[in-house]
Amino acid sequence: MITAVNTFGTTILERVGNTPLIRLERIAAHLEGIQILGKAEWANPGGSVKDRAASAIVKDAQSRGFLLNGGGLLDATSGNTGIAYAMLGAALGFPVTLCMPSNVSPERKRILSAYGAEIVWTNPADGSDGAIRMARKMSAEAPDRYFYADQYSNPANWQAHYRTTANEIWEQTDGQVTHFVAGLGTSGTFVGTTRRLKELNPKIQCISMQPDSPFNGLEGLKHMATAIVPKIYDPTLADENIDMDTEVAYKVAKDLGRHQGLLVGVSAAAAVATCLRIAEREHKAGREAVIVTILCDSADKYLSERFWTEG
Ligand code: PMP
Repeated sequence: MITAVNTFGTTILERVGNTPLIRLERIAAHLEGIQILGKAEWANPGGSVKDRAASAIVKDAQSRGFLLNGGGLLDATSGNTGIAYAMLGAALGFPVTLCMPSNVSPERKRILSAYGAEIVWTNPADGSDGAIRMARKMSAEAPDRYFYADQYSNPANWQAHYRTTANEIWEQTDGQVTHFVAGLGTSGTFVGTTRRLKELNPKIQCISMQPDSPFNGLEGLKHMATAIVPKIYDPTLADENIDMDTEVAYKVAKDLGRHQGLLVGVSAAAAVATCLRIAEREHKAGREAVIVTILCDSADKYLSERFWTEG
């Protein structure tokens, strides 16, 4: 007879968060007194920052009785959130249905089907807006079948970053962080991390970034139809909003590979490009700075994109 059971190892859920903070020392070496640091979010089990929001959304739903006993999760997602939901559904045992534009990359399609998620394809011409409208329609038509996670409106999204990302950044910099930079998709990363960092030290400058054209899940609010500006977005939080040129982000992505040993996705590169712009400004003004950003994911899923081999 077995009298005691020891449990070893860790669960997938426990592996979300506590990502390393990587010093990008070579790309900012010419800027004395300035440090640029990036949270290596590809270290999350689903490979992106979105594991944080998705796991918080799932935990919150389960604490309210959803996603148990066969109930499924439904949401609209352009990629990383979908991968995170699909992984969590497989790990915790609930079905996942995702609405997304049909032009997502073949790598993403394969990852999602490997986790066993069901995909409802929407017209690429309608972008995220079309995927969101489809999810809303499906949820309205079958309210008992799905828990509609609605990452754009769900407070558990930003709260994940309030509780985890911000405190990790504070601890990993011994409270010395002076600037925080994040791109805007649902805005959960920026809103949650900024709210907590401002409580810890209101002097920390928090800068949001939007790309001039949408890429890899980082759409920027201005690319969305007004009807779906995320409910969780708070326009009063940012000290500054910076628009980032996609061509500059491509260049920084290549530089990070060749001169820093980091192959990151374009949204992470755009965030680093924003940090470099702030770094140059602070350096010129004779100020020291500890600039922290979020490296949302690695380049793995995007290596078939042409810019890697051009130029
Ligand atoms: N970068 C990438 C690669 C993403 O997948 C996302 C989320 N879709 C973001 C940035 C934006 O993060 P958030 O939704 O928290 O604003």
